[in-house]
Amino acid sequence: MLYDYTCSKCGVIWEEQHPMDDRDINVGKPTPKEYCKDSKKCEGLVERSMTAPGLSFEGSVGTIKRAGSEWNDVLKGIKKASGKDNTIEHY
Ligand SMILES: [Zn+2]
Repeated sequence: MLYDYTCSKCGVIWEEQHPMDDRDINVGKPTPKEYCKDSKKCEGLVERSMTAPGLSFEGSVGTIKRAGSEWNDVLKGIKKASGKDNTIEHY
């Protein structure tokens, strides 16, 4: 998994590849100097950035199907009203 980390002092953000169980392995340790904006003055600590890489809306149509046809009709209505350039999914 690719995780985002940030320096508590200078706020620089970088990515590191870690297994999920080791994602906090460097949290609370001094930020590697090569990442910091001012490597001489910065004595920040590593924090895990709360972004969610890989978040997607795949499967949303399936969710709509489970919610029932009434909801689907509502979505169809919204899609019709908002024109062809929207990204609303329905079945
Ligand atoms: Zn820093």
